[in-house]
Amino acid sequence: MSQRIYLDANAGLPVRTEVLEEYLRIERDFGANPASLHRAGRGAQGVLESARSRVAALLRCEDSEVVFTSGATEACNLALFGIVRCSAQVLGRKLRLVSSLAEHPAVVGPLRLLQLEGHHVDWLHLDVYATNDLGSWPEDAPDLVAMQWANNETGAVQPLSQMLDLISSDSVWFCDAVQGIGKLAWNESLCEARGLVISGHKFGAPKGIGALVLKNDVLFEATIVGGGHQGGRRPGTENPALASALALALELAMQEQAFNLKNWDRCRLAFLQELTRAIPDVQFNHPPKGGLNNTISLTFPNLDGRLLLPTLDADGLEVSAGSACSSGSPTPSTVLLATGMTQPLANASIRVSLCPKMDTLDASLAGSRLATAISRLYDVAKR
Ligand code: PLP
Repeated sequence: MSQRIYLDANAGLPVRTEVLEEYLRIERDFGANPASLHRAGRGAQGVLESARSRVAALLRCEDSEVVFTSGATEACNLALFGIVRCSAQVLGRKLRLVSSLAEHPAVVGPLRLLQLEGHHVDWLHLDVYATNDLGSWPEDAPDLVAMQWANNETGAVQPLSQMLDLISSDSVWFCDAVQGIGKLAWNESLCEARGLVISGHKFGAPKGIGALVLKNDVLFEATIVGGGHQGGRRPGTENPALASALALALELAMQEQAFNLKNWDRCRLAFLQELTRAIPDVQFNHPPKGGLNNTISLTFPNLDGRLLLPTLDADGLEVSAGSACSSGSPTPSTVLLATGMTQPLANASIRVSLCPKMDTLDASLAGSRLATAISRLYDVAKR
């Protein structure tokens, strides 16, 4: 059987070897509870706080603003419920929120529940690449805007600085930065977010660690209660080894970002050349320029979408379709549907997301293997 090709970086990357070694070293050498007051506990606490400082330096915030979580889903829930419910209590009214269906379910889910609690959400329109259309901005000033940095399905990079021009200093901006971090150069606009979320397994840390940057000036009440860990914002015993692994993986990803950017450009070109030579009718849903350049979103018109993933999987191509990365179920992408794509076309779509350190030979091989598989599916459809 030919070698399998992993093309699902946006769903998650394997942990980096040096990061895994750091994790194991700290778990072995600093195994005490960092909240314990004895020497071993203080040692673990030192490691934890050093990781917090390293993450804070990279995310341009105060150490005290970094809250470690189990990942981005938890961080988004923590931030959105914690900020909106607390602000509503202080203001004595329901809030006006702005977001869009380009957001990941980790953001849309809490917003839908907040809607049920009586808060009002204006959903911005999307263009065909899932970029937020600021022309659909509501008239009433929002209390909170949830706008991601980059889209996980199409790679669209959202118009953050233009959005910031539309909101007053009283509005809170919450940013899901999961897909941008380590893939795009740091954007100074991100310093304006009052809540910002990252997820370690997207850039080579182990699964189960992420962070929420929660600015000290934002109204917030924790949604889970317990001990006073992390200033009471996220109670529960902290894990110094996971926090250090997150810090190291983030440092490495940010150091390598510029190289990856150029490399992905070359790989994407090589991949698409092979694919379009054999399948000229393929439609692109990723932005022609300015998007995440590791992300390729493809639609194969008139193909039965149900055959796509199993066929590609059998051919050794590990890609994703729709929201499968979060649910494990092959449902069509809610993001593509929200751009106005029809259900059959959304079903016949896949996302290819290139990994760091891929080379152009691998990319060409992946493109030609995909082309062969898709040609076969079109032949079957013609019969
Ligand atoms: N936000 C975005 C944009 C994502 O792509 C993902 C995961 O795919 C998440 C949030 C959820 O992250 P986690 O797996 O850490 O819960």
